[in-house]
Parts: sequence; structure tokens; C-alpha cells
Amino acid sequence: MTDWKSRVERDMMRTFNTPIAMLTRGEGCHVWDADGTRYLDFLAGIAVNALGHAHPAFVNAITRQANTLAHVSNYFSSPPQLELAERLKRLAGAEVNGRVYFANSGAEANEAAFKLARLNRGDGSRTRVITLENSFHGRTLGALALTGKPSLQEGFGPLPGGVEHIATTIEALEATIDERVAALIVEPIKGEAGVVDLPEGYLQRARELTEAHGVLLIIDEIQTGAGRTGEWFAFQRSGIVPDAITVAKGIGGGMPIGALVTFGAASDLFGPGHHGSTFGGNPLATATSNAVLEEIERAGLVENAAVRGEQLRALISGLGSPLIEEVRGHGLLIGIGLTAPVAAELSNAAFERGLIINAPNATSIRIAPPLIIGDAEIEEFTTLFRAALDAVQA
Ligand code: PLP
Repeated sequence: MTDWKSRVERDMMRTFNTPIAMLTRGEGCHVWDADGTRYLDFLAGIAVNALGHAHPAFVNAITRQANTLAHVSNYFSSPPQLELAERLKRLAGAEVNGRVYFANSGAEANEAAFKLARLNRGDGSRTRVITLENSFHGRTLGALALTGKPSLQEGFGPLPGGVEHIATTIEALEATIDERVAALIVEPIKGEAGVVDLPEGYLQRARELTEAHGVLLIIDEIQTGAGRTGEWFAFQRSGIVPDAITVAKGIGGGMPIGALVTFGAASDLFGPGHHGSTFGGNPLATATSNAVLEEIERAGLVENAAVRGEQLRALISGLGSPLIEEVRGHGLLIGIGLTAPVAAELSNAAFERGLIINAPNATSIRIAPPLIIGDAEIEEFTTLFRAALDAVQA
């Protein structure tokens, strides 16, 4: 048989670089490649596998639902769909007048958010949508228009218009938000930018300004949601109530699913015929997400993310490596700022030693392990990461 790399080159669309390895199996916080080599997975499919791999709650929910009713189309509802809508509203604090739209990915959840923003027209003059420089909101054309990285947009214009990317400062917010803005869309921590926190007080000021000018405040919780940062949703640390959040990744624990959750008056913008998806909210995806979120609650994994995140941050800082400049993020979404552009080298050195982490840019390492990690995984991480740092320093 042709080896897997040549099959990738022959059969797969060239939208990504050649994959690092061929993974064939996972269990808990570990995965195995085709040669039987074991890796500690401290990336979790980029903040997706909240319960790790092959967790019984995840496996049983999929199996049970596949045996019962997998798909029905959006002409019909199903019990797991309504259960998940209610659960997401409760966890996000949107019980009163909240609504949920189900999609199949993060980009799709943001497409729905973008369309929601377009419906906040006012007298017709609200045509501006504001997002941040160096933000990431996905790769479909609408989500790409929102994404503040010109390099990703290059070659795909014309993109949907009216989107402006502003600097991530309170001053830029104050200079921008006015009556012509339909929505402000922000990540509470910029994950793809290398896990970069918003300035202190940013969301509070954003809420004041958007409220004063009738602008929707939409928070992209796709990477930060589902307990990852030590809160159910990262915006909750700020004490504000947004008009909408978008979620995906961790809420499915590996099942592709996304959602737009609205709060208050924003819940009345969409009407029948405005938006839809064949798969969105299907019983298989929503039953799995219910099981994942239920297990996160039952096992206290939001608290675990907070505690283990602090522990990891202290350990990483305590390594005293001259390569480490700063440790960013919250809970188990951790960014390590490096003193030199060696992130790819460091991530490769870690992989060679059996540790999966990732380098979103030349000077940042991202760590996003399953929320179930305990002492054993932290100890294994520390040994492997220290060895990788030593190898790169040498
Ligand atoms: N928004 C944020 C903040 C993300 O981190 C991502 C994915 O990395 C997306 C949107 C896009 O999600 P998806 O890849 O599921 O389309």
C-alpha cells in the first residue's frame, strides 16, 4: 500500500500543509500514531476534545442516539435538540428571552452571527461591522471577512463588505463605535493569534459603548467556550451580558457542531426563512453535545480547568527557561510567548518526544489539553516540555 504521506499528496486538497503524523487511536489524554508511538495530547484537536479521547460519556451518547434517531432535517424537532438549546441558554445565562440557532462548525456559527448583525439595521444606516485586527473567526467567506488577518483573505475578494478591523485598544473602540455600527464581534481571548488576552476592562467598555449606540455585542466563544478558560464562557469573567455568543469546538467534544446563542432583544431579529442548515441541530450532534456538557458539569471540569490551568501556568513560568517571555490565557487555554521565533522548532521538538502542542505563530506556543487532565498528565507534560525546551536552547 502507498504510504500515507503520498496518499495525502495524491488525494487530499492542498488546503493545509502535509500533516505531522497519521493518528489512528486515542484514549483519555493520549493518542497513538500508525507506528504505535504514543503522544500526550495537550492540544485536544485545538480545544475540541474536552473529555479527551474515547470518553465513555461521548461514545455512549453517540451510540445510543445513532441507534435511536440520527437525523431528521429542520422540518422537525427532536428531544436532544431542545435539551441542548435549554442547556446552552442556562450555561450562558441566557435563560430569559434567549434563543439558540444550531450550525455544524465555528465558521458557520459566525456566518449566522454576521447575518444577525445585518438584521440590526436601525433606519438603514447601520452598515458597519467591527472586528479586531489579528482576530480569527473562520474561513468561509463571511467568517473570513470578519477575520482580521489580511494574509488569509488574500486572493478571495471581493468579500462581504462593511467590515472594519480595528486595533485591540479601548481608545480604538471609543473612536469607532457609533450609530452606523450594526455589531462589534470579538474573541474574549484571541486563540489563533497565540492566546492573547483582551486589555483589562475591554469587554466592560465595549458593553457600555455598544449599549449606548444600539450596537450588537457578539462574542466569539468558539475556542474559549465550554469551560476551557475556567468559566463556562470566557465573557462571564467580565460580568457583562452580550447580545450573542458563538460556540463550537469544545461543546461537541469531537462531534462537529456550532451554535449562535442570543440574549434578550437580539433573539427577535431572525424570522422564519432567514437562515438554515440541513444538519444544524440534528439529534446525533445535539445528543452528543448534551452528553459532553453534562459530563463537564458532573465531573466539575470547569473548576478543574481553572485549577489545572493555574498549576500549569506556575509550572511553565517556574521552568525559568530563557526562551519563555510570558505565559498568557486563562484556565486550560494557555499561550506561551517566546523570546525568539522558535515556536515551530519547539513544537516539533515536543512532538519528537511524544508531546502534542502547537505553534500558532513564530513566537507563540498554544496549549489546550483535554479538561480532564490531572497530576499524572501535568507531570508527563512538564518532563516532555522541559526536554523540548532544552533541545531547542541547545
Ligand atoms: N472562531 C474562533 C475564535 C476560532 O478559534 C475558530 C477556529 O479555530 C473559528 C472561529 C472557526 O471555527 P471552525 O474551524 O469550526 O470553522
